[in-house]
Amino acid sequence: MPECLFCSIVAGDIPAERVLDSDRTVAFRDMNPQAPVHVLVIPRVHLADLAAVAAADDGLLDEMATQAHRIAVQEGLAEGGYRVVFNTGGDAGQTVFHAHAHVLGGRALTWPPG
Ligand code: AMP
Ligand code: ZN
Repeated sequence: MPECLFCSIVAGDIPAERVLDSDRTVAFRDMNPQAPVHVLVIPRVHLADLAAVAAADDGLLDEMATQAHRIAVQEGLAEGGYRVVFNTGGDAGQTVFHAHAHVLGGRALTWPPG
């Protein structure tokens, strides 16, 4: 199997600042944060993108969304608000093809995104 950066983070082979793990997910701080809080929630299993997570249809997407919310609460974002983003495919600018939800907050976020 080809090397996958985020599989290596799950395995602990590449360091990351882990934030909140669950049975089926791992979360860590983005190395190039776009907001004061920028955390990635990823499945422990390798699935390329949101389409693959949705196709699995086995509750994993629920767990990722629940973890995103728990992280927002833990990071103090629940009151001010936060954004959860799945960049999916080329037009969205996805660069890492192991599914991940971005959890962003800690400042007023512009809309629409670029
Ligand atoms: P995307 O462009 O939606 O695929 O997002 C990939 C994200 O992964 C980017 O925001 C990167 O900054 C982040 N990233 C890439 N490598 C690492 C790493 N080793 N540790 C933490 N975040 C990373
Ligand atoms: Zn992977």
